[in-house]
Amino acid sequence: MRCRCHSRKLEKRCCGRFHTGSPAPTPELLMRSRYAAYAKGLTGYIQQTTDPSGPHYYEDDGEWTDSLTRFCQGTRFTGLDILAAPEPVGDTATVRFHAHLEQGETDASFTEDSVFHRKDGRWLYHSAVPNTDVQGT
Ligand SMILES: [Zn+2]
Repeated sequence: MRCRCHSRKLEKRCCGRFHTGSPAPTPELLMRSRYAAYAKGLTGYIQQTTDPSGPHYYEDDGEWTDSLTRFCQGTRFTGLDILAAPEPVGDTATVRFHAHLEQGETDASFTEDSVFHRKDGRWLYHSAVPNTDVQGT
């Protein structure tokens, strides 16, 4: 089975390793594995790889799981382009990507600079920097 991050690799040789517990060694690989996790509805993985000190972490696990599940079920994850993944500076990194998403008849694709922090040897998603120059409007 091909990986849902659209790498064209086999899932077990791509993001599957990270979904089953290996730490993603780079922010880019974590980013890919989170996209694939959304595509597969692996809400636990999304939660485990979100930095508790960031704005996307919710104390209410149940409500968070429900909202992630609704998002995953209502969205088709049709492609992922990593646009830039510069070397991390210490324990902080950014990855610019374009996520291709469809929700019903609507194109919900977006470009984002994601900020990642490394804690205890694991990269975690912290927050998004709005990317106005790429998105236009
Ligand atoms: Zn993958």
